[in-house]
Amino acid sequence: MLELRPVCEHCARALPPDATDARICSFECTFCADCVERVLKNVCPNCGGGFAPRPVRPAQDRRKGNFLGRYPAATRPLHRPVDPAAHAALLAEVGAIPPERR
Ligand SMILES: [Zn+2]
Ligand SMILES: [Zn+2]
Repeated sequence: MLELRPVCEHCARALPPDATDARICSFECTFCADCVERVLKNVCPNCGGGFAPRPVRPAQDRRKGNFLGRYPAATRPLHRPVDPAAHAALLAEVGAIPPERR
């Protein structure tokens, strides 16, 4: 199940379960849309993949208990800001390749 992480890994901005500006990579590395666009340039610093909007888990129980109340968001913040030099090197390596071809 998707882990709904509580903050942007880079800037630590709060990303509650209903945030519309949360972005994730395929490994669930979680960042805010601003960091993905301005800092990461759609390259995940941990895996080199691209990002997609994080789905919002329903807050109401509408189908058999599949909702936030039963499957709550993660609470432990994962804050590990990107190293600018390391990310520049990664961008030079894969930044020009579309995410679906990395
Ligand atoms: Zn951020
Ligand atoms: Zn990643």
